[in-house]
Amino acid sequence: MQIQSVNPYNGKLIQSYSADTPERVAEKIRQTYKSWSTWKEVSFSERGRYLYKTASILRTQAPILARLMAAEMGKPFKAGLAEIEKCAVCCEYYAENSESFLKDEIIDTEASKSYIRFQPLGVILAVMPWNFPFWQLFRFLAPALMAGNCGVLKHASNVFGCALAIENIIRESGFPEYVFQTLLVSSNAVEGIIENPLIKAVTLTGSTTAGKKVAEKAASVLKKSVLELGGSDAYIILADADLEHAAEVCVDSRLINSGQSCIAAKRFIVLKHVEEEFTALFKKKMESKVLGDPLDEKTDVGPQARFDLRDELHQQVIKSIELGATCILGGEIPQGNHALYPPTILSNVKKGMPAYDEEIFGPVAAIITAQDEDEAVNIANDSIFGLGAAVFSRDIAKAEQIAATRLEAGSCFVNESVKSDPRLPFGGIKESGYGRELGVYGIKEFVNIKTVWVG
Ligand code: NDP
Repeated sequence: MQIQSVNPYNGKLIQSYSADTPERVAEKIRQTYKSWSTWKEVSFSERGRYLYKTASILRTQAPILARLMAAEMGKPFKAGLAEIEKCAVCCEYYAENSESFLKDEIIDTEASKSYIRFQPLGVILAVMPWNFPFWQLFRFLAPALMAGNCGVLKHASNVFGCALAIENIIRESGFPEYVFQTLLVSSNAVEGIIENPLIKAVTLTGSTTAGKKVAEKAASVLKKSVLELGGSDAYIILADADLEHAAEVCVDSRLINSGQSCIAAKRFIVLKHVEEEFTALFKKKMESKVLGDPLDEKTDVGPQARFDLRDELHQQVIKSIELGATCILGGEIPQGNHALYPPTILSNVKKGMPAYDEEIFGPVAAIITAQDEDEAVNIANDSIFGLGAAVFSRDIAKAEQIAATRLEAGSCFVNESVKSDPRLPFGGIKESGYGRELGVYGIKEFVNIKTVWVG
């Protein structure tokens, strides 16, 4: 079976990959498992040395890797450079901190000695998406390797070039052979891989549909799963917000990665009193963004990652308009064989429309009016998702109280856009998934939290 990588900016075939046969997949998993038997004994300082080297190689190769992402999934070049830098920082963070995160925890009991030890589980399967082809993988892999686990990757079928580049970088960093490998398979091979007895757990970042399938399979063979799924992050604009600042942050967040980020701002819940002014500022900034070739340094918004995804996005826009939303910017597919979609604003968005109920994975903003703060919070929470949220107000104490106590999401920010940071846990509630990546909680997802009692 052949799996093709197609450039979404010009529609041209980049490369066709022969999928690994089931026998080849089993062989790769055996190799990685064998490697784990010695990797789990390697000291933290040695693991860290390799990971520091990974950070350095990532930085050296950043322009090449950014070009690869631009070709395979359309990420603007400058955003690609930033993504690689973030991966390098994450590698350094875990190289430096993992030993202290995982040191034995002594617990006082009546035993002569009792403590908690964190031991690696073994080979972990990572099923990853195309939107941040390096970052999504490194935020799993850096802590996993430092904890003494090994990994196999099933990357999204349109970014196999990135998957193989990551495998090469890990090899060049001096890690022992096979601690990490890429499996070139399509999604229908994933269930069989989860069943493999040498796979001990699975992590998936991607759509809620794929997450449910993987969770179901993992549960059927009693393997742990971590799921980082979709989101429909609400950004609440209160009447006393600095509207200029809020509009700036909201536009940047909506358009991050050409609109294709789980934690992009998607629903803008604006208090009636400031709706007109906010919308005007927001529109001015949205229309100033440059749509086009991801390799052009001036481009802010590149093509969508695949033609079919762009077409699905357009259908969500059309359906929302049919149901009463007003399109005040964009909303039309540009001419030419590109998977481009323009920055688009839908106002007058209401419950029952795709722009309210579904994840909108592209540069389309939904503006929803709220009469007061309570209604704004209720609308923000009226979603199947619970990944991130933000509140904008000059009254920091009030905004913090809404963020910390009232919003149903895994990460809530005040006067800033939701971001992932290696130092802080990241993940969702509701249909945005479960488990956490990053920070101290992330590295503890794939360990045996072992109680040791000495009588
Ligand atoms: P998917 O969720 O389908 O793909 C993500 C990963 O899961 C890929 O590696 C994919 O492999 C794999 N996968 C897909 N279906 C299954 C399955 N049944 N069992 C096991 N693995 C599976 O995302 P799409 O590319 O189809 O994008 C569709 C939508 O998903 C987007 O519009 C967006 O809403 C959401 N999404 C969310 C992301 C996030 O960061 N939260 C990231 C990407 C997408 P393969 O590529 O071979 O199908």
